[in-house]
Amino acid sequence: MFSRAFKLIGGAGLLALGYDLATKGGPPSDILAKESGNHNVSLYGGRIRGDPKDTAEFKYFTYDTLPAFTDKHRSLMAKLLTPEMFARLKDRKTGSGYTLSNAIQTGVETPHLGVGITAGDEESWETFKDIMYPVIRGWHNFDPNTQFHKTDLDASKLNFNSEQQDKFDQYVVSTRIRAARNVSGFPLPAGTDVKGRAGVEKVLSDTFACFSGDLKGKYYSLGSLSAEDESFLRENGFLFQKPKTTNLLTNAGAARDWPNNRGIFHNDNRTALCWVNEEDHCRIISMQMGGNVQQVFARFASISDGLQAGSEKVGAKLMYSDRLGFLGTCPSNLGTGLRASVMIKLPELNKDPALLEKICDSFDLQPRGSAGEHSAAVGAKWDISNKQRIGFSEVELVQKMIDGVDKVIKAEEKLASGAALVEGVDY
Ligand code: ADP
Ligand code: MG
Repeated sequence: MFSRAFKLIGGAGLLALGYDLATKGGPPSDILAKESGNHNVSLYGGRIRGDPKDTAEFKYFTYDTLPAFTDKHRSLMAKLLTPEMFARLKDRKTGSGYTLSNAIQTGVETPHLGVGITAGDEESWETFKDIMYPVIRGWHNFDPNTQFHKTDLDASKLNFNSEQQDKFDQYVVSTRIRAARNVSGFPLPAGTDVKGRAGVEKVLSDTFACFSGDLKGKYYSLGSLSAEDESFLRENGFLFQKPKTTNLLTNAGAARDWPNNRGIFHNDNRTALCWVNEEDHCRIISMQMGGNVQQVFARFASISDGLQAGSEKVGAKLMYSDRLGFLGTCPSNLGTGLRASVMIKLPELNKDPALLEKICDSFDLQPRGSAGEHSAAVGAKWDISNKQRIGFSEVELVQKMIDGVDKVIKAEEKLASGAALVEGVDY
């Protein structure tokens, strides 16, 4: 265990290395370990003990006691994991070999994360339910002990009046709706290995080959993308980010063997996309320019149905539980797994990101920067989406996004007119 004084000295040294613990969430664990003078120990008490999933670049830590959380640790996991819970769960292991230490590593070593715990396989949700359920409750305000997931993909049920549509057309640059889908029988990215990742890629690329009509398209393996295709896809926000040390993937072990067996499918007009082996086995994405949320949602529903039908055709099954809905890596993406976002220019609110965050929060929305989670908002462009994924149907979540963003636009316009916003009235 480290003393507080030791941690501070370690932190100062890290700043000299160019890492800013406060804003970027800390450097990768191997650097922490080197800084501490002990290559096998993290700043927070994790030890490298040799995990079958280790690679040359990435080692999993084992925590023998409750990690030494600091006031930088913002995650629900860090707040909710008690010493008793830790003691009860620490020696458990799922069938694929995923442990509590594996599950919490990203939340411990990347202190700024909001959730801080990952599932390494389908079983993790049950094996570590003592901590998973409280985190789910805290994040979604949904109690898995008493509530059930619900689903409704009927886009015609959305209320999107012409006044709202006009505002969206004026402010929204592009609209995107995505969800997580995972293939039963394979470990999830944080707990998988080369064989598991390759198996998932095979199932999914075979599934995409079953897509027809509007959804028909092509699968590109990330490792073999031409530089031209890669920059086109990246510039248009179609491609996923290379994992940075600041996001959940790196310290969860989900970026091992990058970019092998990762890839992207898109239909011919690039409005339906599927990512393979990023944070989840599959992310299905519907996106287009402008603010026509109804159209984007209708296409999303058809990708979801197409993936379900296609995976059955190739003999696979998607992870799903009646209680928790679609299962995946992060508790924030359970249930519908749906995130409906608009990329929107907000020059006034951009002057006060804390206020924007507060306004979004009051409508159950989450603001992100213009290049994805934990990125900066460039040119006052924000990605604003629903925060919850479970406890509401897909229709209800998209509706909440429409109604909330409508209010955010009204707040932006009020500020632009020179008036001040009033808490309790405007948000
Ligand atoms: P997710 O986990 O939902 O896929 P990320 O925050 O990881 O979201 O971002 C993924 C990528 O999608 C980023 O490049 C982001 O800028 C892009 N993106 C998100 N929402 C939109 C949108 N409405 N329009 C265009 N691009 C978007
Ligand atoms: Mg993401």
